[in-house]
Amino acid sequence: MTFEYAPAPESTSIVDIRPSYGLFIDGEFRDSIDGDTIKTINPATEEVLSEVVAAGPRDVAAAVEAARRAYQTGWGTMPGTERAKYLYRIARIIQERSRELAVLETIDNGKPIRESRDVDLPLVAAHFFYYAGWADKLSYAGFGPHPRPLGVAAQVIPWNFPLLMLAWKIAPALACGNTVVLKPAETTPLTALVFAEICQQADLPPGVVNIITGAGETGRHLVEHPDVDKIAFTGSTEVGRQIARAAAGTRKRLTLELGGKAANIVFDDAPLDQAVEGIVNGIFFNQGHVCCAGSRLLVQESIHDELLTALKRRISLLRLGDPLDKNTDIGAINSAAQLERIRALSEIGELEGAERWSAPCPLPDRGFWFPPTVFTGVSQAHRIAREEIFGPVLSVLTFRTPEEAVAKANNTPYGLSAGIWTEKGSRILWMADRLRAGVVWANTFNKFDPSSPFGGYKESGYGREGGRHGLEAYLAV
Ligand code: NDP
Repeated sequence: MTFEYAPAPESTSIVDIRPSYGLFIDGEFRDSIDGDTIKTINPATEEVLSEVVAAGPRDVAAAVEAARRAYQTGWGTMPGTERAKYLYRIARIIQERSRELAVLETIDNGKPIRESRDVDLPLVAAHFFYYAGWADKLSYAGFGPHPRPLGVAAQVIPWNFPLLMLAWKIAPALACGNTVVLKPAETTPLTALVFAEICQQADLPPGVVNIITGAGETGRHLVEHPDVDKIAFTGSTEVGRQIARAAAGTRKRLTLELGGKAANIVFDDAPLDQAVEGIVNGIFFNQGHVCCAGSRLLVQESIHDELLTALKRRISLLRLGDPLDKNTDIGAINSAAQLERIRALSEIGELEGAERWSAPCPLPDRGFWFPPTVFTGVSQAHRIAREEIFGPVLSVLTFRTPEEAVAKANNTPYGLSAGIWTEKGSRILWMADRLRAGVVWANTFNKFDPSSPFGGYKESGYGREGGRHGLEAYLAV
């Protein structure tokens, strides 16, 4: 028997969203020189939240110039112990303002407050603490006695983890002595703008961090600016390719964190109840807007029916709705465009012959919503088994032997992550050795830690973020 929950909405009074924002350049908020404006909305209600700048080429140039100046006039040569103090200060302010940031992230992105409060924000602060610790120990990181920073880093991030992706980019860059110009995604700029305020609050020297809002064009101007030394991009494989082409033949160093189509592999000796929780967390966490989501479930044939019955029962209990409600499991899809893409690929799944099942949950009238959905009878050739849907949609395939599981798991142009569920340690090691994935989780999924490197093989990109490895992307080694 299940009980209805009373509404438990998180208060929004802690958040003060301004009607409009300028660009954060050289330590201050400025009006745009040649930009346009764009509106950012709450995807759960379609309400307009604020108006931000879509920075033009001259705005981008001003930000890069400020970053260059800050690099040359102090940050690039500042002792690591001093840089660390700023990073620790930023980390502590993030902790102090974490409730405000979590609520704002949920309003702008649509993710459940339970996730922004308990996952995103603690990890954001942890990243700054972790890389603050490295700032004065770079000589011992294994990159030679005096590793040097690269200079000005252009960083472009997506909308699925706005503040966390910012932390993954800015914390190691600053720890290594680089300065940055960061562009948040068009649909989720607000927490990056509050982060700009936090930089002011921490007395970070002007120009060390610059935040320029805008759409894809702004990102293109930024990565193509000739005075950029390093590009760090997270987003779609298609845009990653364009950026790699633009950077080819220049001195710019490049790291790319792109898409994925992870296999979550369940053997017949796995603890099924735990596996069900792991499968749900793997694909429905953050509405499936996760590059390392376990979007392909590979089940050993002998337990297919039993597992699917348990899984559907569990999914039917997920609560979809107001992201600000503390009991919500599934929030809003981030944008109308993303919802359209999820719908289109799901329709293709049905047309190609897979069987579609969606949780019987009512969808709110306003906003962008998609019910947790499972496709069974999926074959390797189906588009829903090959393409990144980036939504709460799971494709289920079967296998009989470990060899077949490995072959199917690796049969994708991507290689970001994978999951293995079995009680045999030897099988976990055997599988992990053969899976072409940057991260392999065993009897768990979607676990992150700042000390652990993250990144992909093949079309999932190159370079690593997090851990000691994450320093390499920002040092001239
Ligand atoms: P994009 O790759 O289009 O966007 C990522 C970031 O790059 C955004 O800040 C975007 O700006 C910017 N951008 C877009 N075009 C360019 C360009 N030519 N040069 C430089 N920067 C650019 O991803 P979307 O957000 O549009 O999502 C589309 C698909 O990408 C998703 O369905 C999903 O499959 C995948 N994706 C994968 C992610 C991952 O973590 N691996 C994250 C997000 C998406 P703007 O927001 O204004 O478009």
